[in-house]
Amino acid sequence: MAVGEVIVRADRLADFVKAICERDGSDPAEAALVAENLVLANLFGHDSHGVGMIPRYIENTRAGNCHRNGHATIVLDHGPVITVDGNKGYGQVVAREAMQFGIERAREHGVCVVGLRNCHHIGRIGAWGEQCADAGMISTHYVNVHGHKSLVAPFGGAEPRFTTNPYCCTIPGPPGGEHIVLDFATSQVAMGKVRVAYNKREAMEAGLLIDHEGNPTTDPGVMWGNGPFGAILPFGLHKGGGLAVICDILAGALTGGLTHSPKTIKANSGDIVNNMLSIVIDPAKLGGSEVWQQDTQDFIAWVKSSRPQPGVEAVLVPGEPERMRRAQRLGKGIAIDDTTWNQLSDTARLVGLTDAEIRALSGV
Ligand code: NAD
Repeated sequence: MAVGEVIVRADRLADFVKAICERDGSDPAEAALVAENLVLANLFGHDSHGVGMIPRYIENTRAGNCHRNGHATIVLDHGPVITVDGNKGYGQVVAREAMQFGIERAREHGVCVVGLRNCHHIGRIGAWGEQCADAGMISTHYVNVHGHKSLVAPFGGAEPRFTTNPYCCTIPGPPGGEHIVLDFATSQVAMGKVRVAYNKREAMEAGLLIDHEGNPTTDPGVMWGNGPFGAILPFGLHKGGGLAVICDILAGALTGGLTHSPKTIKANSGDIVNNMLSIVIDPAKLGGSEVWQQDTQDFIAWVKSSRPQPGVEAVLVPGEPERMRRAQRLGKGIAIDDTTWNQLSDTARLVGLTDAEIRALSGV
């Protein structure tokens, strides 16, 4: 255990988070979905989308930005093309329901385009790809975010114009095998990672941030405090910057959930609104249905057979690093920094858990 952190077992952490959500008014099923989703993000090593989100979620339920025990509804039905409203419910509930609609329709029609709008934070987008892949479906997901201030500059821009707009594509593995899960933010770095560096007073790597004049900086302080604010750069120069723009249009404008723009930005708000355009494809309905799975496995073996570069242990495919981290963290427990743990404990007290209950649930 490093100085300034606690180690918590994944199952205890899930019990603790579930108890916080239940005390806050979520029904047991919703509380369990939120807890499982966030703890899995920690297990996969994406702490920026793990249990550290809980204080903000509870602030948002109390402020009316996230509606407890809400459900998704189909508001426009064209068979294989549906628009689903998340009704500002917990993303962990409504995105799951929307993907279930998409899977059922894709089974019937071969494909389903799901325009999901108006959700509270839907967390790791890979979770929704994995849900589709568990049902044997290929899926691709474009996501945008609004409800709070802009964070990420467009390619060449000195001012932020959108946020970390994630993209995901998931390919189901063979029966009993592993899925390919490509799932990333289109920004160089997640905002949570900038916050950690800022809290530790550490400089960040070059090439991630710009200051308010558009000049490169390694100072995470340009994203925090009272400003003037800089921005996070998009990944991959004009290519990542272009994908971020596409995500905002497909997920925001096309679904009716709206893009990140002066119409939807709420300065000084902790709200999080996610919209997502998902395309769910049944591989059994395409011409390669007989060969595609074997061909995919052969291709992956070919890709992984590349001799690693000096200093690289092995060539991995998307999804593998997360599974390796999950194996480690299931064994060793999840390390949570003191700042996050204190915030989580304060939130637990706010919803009425006693210190004795916190200790009994978390084991910390
Ligand atoms: P990241 O930069 O860690 O990239 C993760 C992806 O790259 C995964 O698919 C992973 O398997 C793959 N990968 C990483 N190392 C690899 C290697 N050595 N070889 C092969 N593949 C490798 O992810 P990120 O951009 O920090 O995003 C983290 C999470 O945050 C994602 O789950 C994303 O969906 C989520 N997110 C959500 C929102 C939201 O609004 N809900 C916004 C931004 C990000």
